[in-house]
Amino acid sequence: MVSSLDPKQLVKKALPVQKISNPTSGQNFINLPLDKKLQANIQKKGYTTLTPIQEQAVPVLLEGRDMLAISKTGSGKTAAFLIPLIMRLLEKPLAHSVLIVAPTRELALQIGEEFKELTLGMNLRWATFIGGTNIQSDLNHLSQKPQVLIGTPGRLLDLAKQRVLPLKQVNTLVLDEFDRMLDMGFIQDVKRLVEMIGSREQTLLFSATLDASQQKLISGLLDNPVEIQIDPGTSANEHINQETIQVADGEDKFLVMKDLFQDSSLEKVILFTETKRLADRLAKKLNQNGISAGQIHGDKSQNFRNRTLDEFKSGKIRVLVATDVAARGIDVADVNLVINYQMPMTMDAYIHRIGRTGRAGKTGRAITFIN
Ligand code: ADP
Ligand code: MG
Repeated sequence: MVSSLDPKQLVKKALPVQKISNPTSGQNFINLPLDKKLQANIQKKGYTTLTPIQEQAVPVLLEGRDMLAISKTGSGKTAAFLIPLIMRLLEKPLAHSVLIVAPTRELALQIGEEFKELTLGMNLRWATFIGGTNIQSDLNHLSQKPQVLIGTPGRLLDLAKQRVLPLKQVNTLVLDEFDRMLDMGFIQDVKRLVEMIGSREQTLLFSATLDASQQKLISGLLDNPVEIQIDPGTSANEHINQETIQVADGEDKFLVMKDLFQDSSLEKVILFTETKRLADRLAKKLNQNGISAGQIHGDKSQNFRNRTLDEFKSGKIRVLVATDVAARGIDVADVNLVINYQMPMTMDAYIHRIGRTGRAGKTGRAITFIN
């Protein structure tokens, strides 16, 4: 396959952070009618001002409406749906009443983590259902009667088919990172799950991009939704410096890349490759060159992927080498640089990759190698 991208599109200067980090009216969480413990947990997470999507979504969701929300990656969509969901759960903490579907295991775990932090000290339970883990542990989780079920489409459907997932009790459905879900071919699984749930009170669909061709599918899932679009989903994060490096014929790309790491301020770097084999090879070569690296991709076990991600988050390794699928949507603070070892196939893939840096109001940097 040949990339459809024009290298000229991949060079851009970041806008100064203060111009874009807070284009809201500056509403603070403190002024929202939220539960006291929830307020305290929000504060503990360091959130004071609502992001634009949160400012638009939270009040509407508190009313229980369906929603279609489009906002770029890194803009705080998770809390935008979790905070109102938690308020509703505090009123009616019904077992298995909320189902959150996410395209990747990492995302599902991340949503679970944020739910945990936001509900500290409350009597709410959640469980994640993802591939690559033992079904018996899923059954144990279900026996605790969690209010919130979070999972990837494949595993959720497996459990539903075995009639162990109480989908009939779900009254609120969240489809997160819906564009990724479609890209990854999960649409049939999602449709099956939705059919099995049947009638529900509230459905929320969150996505970074919206393709006109999905309109019919989306209106079939939502009932008279409030639609929110914060910025055109195709524009890459504005606070990322984007550069390309042209590798000349006969020049060793690995050596050119290795030179970048002489800059010791690059403490957290994500390196994307098209193939799993290349990811393995580059991680090995980096380590051989004294640059600590680990890889995540679809052939690695979930334990391995979690461990590598933890090592990357904690700074034990400097470089995370990843394929698109494994790294979609992951949120690691302070990623200094995203490197595309090869040009991504599509603009969409490019935008999602570089969105791993320049998160939460910081300036990021992305470098794409051009052959
Ligand atoms: P998205 O789902 O839109 O890609 P996330 O929900 O993963 O974005 O959030 C991106 C980052 O921003 C996370 O690290 C999250 O903790 C942080 N964040 C979310 N809301 C706020 C806020 N109101 N203030 C500061 N940081 C926030
Ligand atoms: Mg998200």
